[in-house]
Amino acid sequence: MAEMNPFKIAQQQLDEAAAKLGLDTATHELLRWPMKEFHFTLPVKMDTGKTRVFHAYRVQYNAARGPTKGGIRWHPDETIDTIRALAAWMTWKCAVVNIPLGGGKGGIICNPNELSETEKERLARAYIRAVAGELGVHKDVPAPDVNTTPQIMAWMMDEYETIVGHSHPGVITGKPLPLGGSEGRGNATARGGIYTVREAAAKISLDPSKATYAIQGFGNVGSCAARLLAEQGAKIVAVSDVKGGIFKEGGLDIPAVVEHFKQTGSVIGFKGAKDLTNEELLVLDVDILVPAALECVITGANANNIKAKLICELANGPTTPDADAILHKKGILVLPDFMANAGGVTVSYLEQVQNTYNYYWSLEAVCSQLDRHMTDAFNAVWKTREQAKVHMRLAAYMVSVARVAEACKLRGWV
Ligand code: NAD
Repeated sequence: MAEMNPFKIAQQQLDEAAAKLGLDTATHELLRWPMKEFHFTLPVKMDTGKTRVFHAYRVQYNAARGPTKGGIRWHPDETIDTIRALAAWMTWKCAVVNIPLGGGKGGIICNPNELSETEKERLARAYIRAVAGELGVHKDVPAPDVNTTPQIMAWMMDEYETIVGHSHPGVITGKPLPLGGSEGRGNATARGGIYTVREAAAKISLDPSKATYAIQGFGNVGSCAARLLAEQGAKIVAVSDVKGGIFKEGGLDIPAVVEHFKQTGSVIGFKGAKDLTNEELLVLDVDILVPAALECVITGANANNIKAKLICELANGPTTPDADAILHKKGILVLPDFMANAGGVTVSYLEQVQNTYNYYWSLEAVCSQLDRHMTDAFNAVWKTREQAKVHMRLAAYMVSVARVAEACKLRGWV
């Protein structure tokens, strides 16, 4: 369905902001498209000795505000349009948290569950050999995303340094700590989202420590959000992963769910909780809903049934535009993806800064910088929402697009 194409959605969202900002035609057209994109075909030796051919991408969407930045996803359903959309969202994301970076994204079409560790390493290194000429702290800096890990970042950094022949840890972020990673990077996306929930809840007189939560996705972002919220005493009544979800009205014991997940590979079947589907989780009667899995899960078909007062979009693109309009009409406050989940890229940026200085900060120092960026972003977007009388996503777009457009103009591009 055309409306479910994430890049079309990203363009549609930009069009709306451009109209509201009165953006000139050339700037608008420039911001509708990636400035550069690369398609790769990667031959990789499997453990059997046979070669398998993988297809991969890197999109550098817009570099007006600085080098492009964005994760690398490994997913069987990856498409160039998903990567383009995610690269566009990275551009708006870096702008909304006001860090001096542009937006990019990469992806490899593969099912990591079918790959051994050694095959993953060879695939990671093959990708870097293909893209190395386009990377670097002053060009484009990848990071982890769906199905990619600090270990994969370590292999990628090592391959890059082998090619260029010198240390260059800032070429990739989300690295393990001993290789120049930053304190707080592992759960930065979730932590940043929780800071925005704190700010938003105060605006709608909701106490986030007394609220009920449902979280879709139990990967890096979803499980970290669950853990951090549980540490703050929040009541998380439902969580899910690709296999399904679990629900307990009185609140789940999150450390025990994490343990169950480690042992079984899924949250489902957790003792004392009821199993439920991912669709059921989204429409639960909770205060705060946190989609933290994949795109396009809140659509025109289910938005009317959503009961949460606040939605914190930690996943990228979880809400389709038709659903957005319904949620807005229902008075549900949506913290849009590229603002709510900007914590990851913010700490990635802080990681790059530390790599450049070759001097490393404490967790407290990183968190306080992260809090400042997230809170300032929320306040800028809230102010635009009030002044322009628009919903949060459009307000966030207006803040970001205006900042990127200004950089394009100052450079003399338009
Ligand atoms: P991950 O691979 O660690 O976890 C993804 C989770 O989603 C897993 O629990 C998986 O079981 C679940 N899932 C997959 N398909 C599903 C489906 N069809 N229905 C329900 N659940 C499903 O990935 P992640 O890093 O946690 O990323 C999750 C989302 O957050 C993505 O949209 C990603 O782009 C976004 N994001 C990630 C980061 C980051 O720092 N990792 C930063 C910003 C945004």
